[in-house]
Amino acid sequence: MKALQYLEIGAPPRVVTVPDPEPGPGQVVIKVTAAGACHSDEFIMSLSAEQYIYGLPLTLGHEGAGTVAALGEGVEHLRIGESVAVYGPWGCGHCHNCTEGKENYCTNAAALGIAPPGLGSPGAMAEYMLIDSPRHLVPLGDLDPVKSVSLTDAGLTPYHAIKRSLPKLGAGSTAVVIGAGGLGHVGIQIIRAMTGANIIALDVSEEKLALAREVGAHHAILSNAAAAGTIRDLTHGLGADAIFDFVGAQATVDLAGVIAAVEAEISIVGIAGGALGVGIQTTAWDVAVRAPYWGSRSELIEVLDLARAGSIGVEIETFSLDEAPRAYELLHQGKIRGRAVVVP
Ligand code: NAD
Ligand code: ZN
Ligand code: ZN
Repeated sequence: MKALQYLEIGAPPRVVTVPDPEPGPGQVVIKVTAAGACHSDEFIMSLSAEQYIYGLPLTLGHEGAGTVAALGEGVEHLRIGESVAVYGPWGCGHCHNCTEGKENYCTNAAALGIAPPGLGSPGAMAEYMLIDSPRHLVPLGDLDPVKSVSLTDAGLTPYHAIKRSLPKLGAGSTAVVIGAGGLGHVGIQIIRAMTGANIIALDVSEEKLALAREVGAHHAILSNAAAAGTIRDLTHGLGADAIFDFVGAQATVDLAGVIAAVEAEISIVGIAGGALGVGIQTTAWDVAVRAPYWGSRSELIEVLDLARAGSIGVEIETFSLDEAPRAYELLHQGKIRGRAVVVP
């Protein structure tokens, strides 16, 4: 089969031919219907040989959807041909967090060498994909896999962050979304669907600000030195109650600290390396900061339900598997509107 692989540190990924996967006992093979390209893929391909820990060659793609193609021995409750989405943050399945469905916070994965697809295990940018357990598949039902595949990360990750801050986002509150790209443009819709907050979106690109407005941001402003003042004015001097930073650079987390209202919650989701100091005289009283990772299996089911209800959707640009390297080039240049989705 064809697969998009990262083969050499610093070199662009290439489409190569690899053996079709076979399901071992307890495993499932899906025929991929769609695979999303995330900025995190971009990030791992920017790492030096010393920093890179994901193995080579690596079949990319941690957002995946497919139809069930083959069942390993002992797998039940799945039908051949059934349309499924891949729950990507694979864990051990039996630690306390995994038992709660929070495999994103598995406490054994690192020690056991369990890695998510596309981030250590072979990913979804291929014609077929090996799933280590049926636990990591969620039925898609009637949802269009191409339009929905990115809900597995670009939907799930913001959902997980936003859900934890819901108590902050009553009517009249303010939510700030920094970065209206793949995650951010879905995050805006989730906040619109689930809260009474006024949403202020920030980005460095006018096109992304236009997208932010289209998907429901009440205000969309350039992310620059003037942004903090504008947010103060828009909130009558109070600041924002919840801030979701989908960039995570030093400049954006610093901005988050400055615009945080008393008792605000800041979620640093982007992995651009910024860190935020919280302290008396540094931030407003009782500001809390978290750095969430992906989401739980039950939250993925909830995100898919929001899409089924028509409350959220992903803006996509589609590419064939042969065109997939181009999708990453465009993502790198900041030219993807919403999410790039590869349709093998
Ligand atoms: P993306 O490239 O689709 O979107 C990023 C957006 O941020 C773009 O619209 C870009 O114009 C904007 N941007 C860049 N610099 C900015 C700045 N200084 N101020 C405001 N906006 C700025 O990326 P994505 O796939 O949505 O991923 C977003 C981030 O989240 C990445 O760092 C990614 O690696 C990370 N991520 C984290 C998790 C997690 O679990 N924590 C999961 C998925 C992705
Ligand atoms: Zn991702
Ligand atoms: Zn576990």
